[in-house]
Amino acid sequence: MDDQTATIYELKKLIREFVAERGWKKYHNLKDLSIALIIEASELLDIFKWRNVEKVEKNSELMLSLKEELADVIIYALRLSDVANIDVAQAVREKIKKNAEKYPANIRYEW
Ligand SMILES: [Mg+2]
Repeated sequence: MDDQTATIYELKKLIREFVAERGWKKYHNLKDLSIALIIEASELLDIFKWRNVEKVEKNSELMLSLKEELADVIIYALRLSDVANIDVAQAVREKIKKNAEKYPANIRYEW
C-alpha cells in the first residue's frame, strides 16, 4: 500500500480496525480526537524547536521522527473524519475551491 494505490477508504478502515481490536472506540469522540490531533501536531512541531530547518532536513533520525509524527497527525485526522462521517475527498475539494476564491491565482502573495 502506497500513495499511488491506497485509498482514503482503505486507510480509514485500517485505522477503524486497529481501534476496534483494542477496544478504544469508546474513547474516540470528536473532542478527544481533536485534542489528540493537535497534540500530535505539536509533537511534529517539537522536532523543529531550537533547530533551523536545514539541520532537520539533513538529519535522518529527525526526518524519521517527522515521518512518524506526520503519520500520527494523519491517523487522527482520518479517524476524526471517520467518526464525524466526513467524506475527506469531498471536504478537501470543497475547501480547495473555497481557498481558490479567497486567494485568486492571478495575485502574487508575499509573506
Ligand atoms: Mg506522536
